[in-house]
Amino acid sequence: MKIFNSLTRKKEEFETIEPMKIRMYVCGPTVYDFIHIGNARPMIVFDTFRRYMLFLGYDVNYVSNFTDIDDKIINRANELGISSEELANRFIDECKKDMQGMNIMEASTHPLATKEIDGMIKLIEGLVEKGYAYVGKDGTVYYDTTKFKEYGKLSHKNLDDLQSGFRDLKVSGEEDKKTFTDFVLWKPKKEGEPYWKSPWCDGRPGWHTECCVMAPKYCGGSLDIHAGGEDLVFPHHENEIAQYEPLYGEPYARYWMHNAFLNINNQKMSKSLGNFHTVREILEKFDGNVLRLFMLSTHYRAMLNFSYELMESSKASLERIENCINNIEFTLKNKNVTVSNGSKLDNIDDFNELIVDTKTNADFLPSELEAFDKICEYIKEYFDKLDDDLNTADAETQVYEIVRIVNQNVNESSSIEFLNTTLLILNTLLYILGIELNKKSVSNNIDEVLIEKMIAERTEAKKAKDYAKADEIRKKLLDMGIELEDTRQGVKWKAV
Ligand SMILES: [Zn+2]
Repeated sequence: MKIFNSLTRKKEEFETIEPMKIRMYVCGPTVYDFIHIGNARPMIVFDTFRRYMLFLGYDVNYVSNFTDIDDKIINRANELGISSEELANRFIDECKKDMQGMNIMEASTHPLATKEIDGMIKLIEGLVEKGYAYVGKDGTVYYDTTKFKEYGKLSHKNLDDLQSGFRDLKVSGEEDKKTFTDFVLWKPKKEGEPYWKSPWCDGRPGWHTECCVMAPKYCGGSLDIHAGGEDLVFPHHENEIAQYEPLYGEPYARYWMHNAFLNINNQKMSKSLGNFHTVREILEKFDGNVLRLFMLSTHYRAMLNFSYELMESSKASLERIENCINNIEFTLKNKNVTVSNGSKLDNIDDFNELIVDTKTNADFLPSELEAFDKICEYIKEYFDKLDDDLNTADAETQVYEIVRIVNQNVNESSSIEFLNTTLLILNTLLYILGIELNKKSVSNNIDEVLIEKMIAERTEAKKAKDYAKADEIRKKLLDMGIELEDTRQGVKWKAV
């Protein structure tokens, strides 16, 4: 697999530090409010990367933090008259609900900044000792960017250019700062703020310190991949490197992956423009699968434009996929084959075995053999695209192609083996992208047994020419959100 590494600005072959193990860290949100659609992009992109790596057989240690102490949290908590901790905990819970709604797998560890203060103090002490940090008169600790010769290597910025760009940005309360690019490692407490004891003053750490303490601690040392939104490249990630590397004398991360920005209707998202969307608000209007399909329809390093119209088109695409899968399942049920919902293959070895086995042994109709050859070409393309810097946009296209071929070949005369195989293939390719169709019906509390029972009653009523009763049952089901379709092969239903 090749990954575009922001550090070298090149696509590089992906090689892990330990064989088949990935140490991955993704900067998480600051939890002062519901997360917005911009926060959702790195979550969905890097969750998809993780799913694909798991499928390839890697053991992925996926660490993602919550920043639970920060000016925004403190201000918001003060406005509401509650503690920062209470506010942060509330929005961590809300964030986890949204992540679940978007089929984001739970991180291996979700560290919290406030639980890692001791480690941060130790790191800052180490930097002071080695001469990479200095202490101001008020106890503020600054990182000395002139001491780290490689400062600017991730953002590809030149220190002199940076300093001229920063000349006007002197922040009040940072009077002892020597150079404009220097950043705060520890700052003194202000009235009404939470604080911790430290060798320099009562206060709290600067934001850039938390990740480079939590990442190696929970990932087990230097990282394979450090990821986040491209807005974090500078200064956040640059500053993380500057703290870690001089202290530990090893590269902080082998690969840096950054997703591009997201616009709303071709404009920057901002509260003042009135185009601010929380994930919660979007999930109330659309299924999480639709949001994933939409987000992944653009390569993660390209700017993504969000609009409700574009979401509608992703919804239509998802419906096409769902119809195809429902059609296969329906045809199988008509052949008295039990279908287990959402069954899929968990790794590439089993998947390849299925393909090879099918090619050599399958009892397919001649038309199905031909269709399967085409499907195999699209499957190869699907994996080639994911291997090329996680090109989910083109991978999705291959899924649509497979759906098209399957639709042409599913009917009463289809072989059971063709139906079962294509169902397994589609479910697996969708699962890698985090599209979990069966999960949706579970979360919507659809009682399939009851529905099937009501449909059977309606069929009986129709047979007995009791059309009033049949209509009544149809209406009841519609009120439950279930739409019926009478076909030659029997009654199909879907949730609307
Ligand atoms: Zn971070």
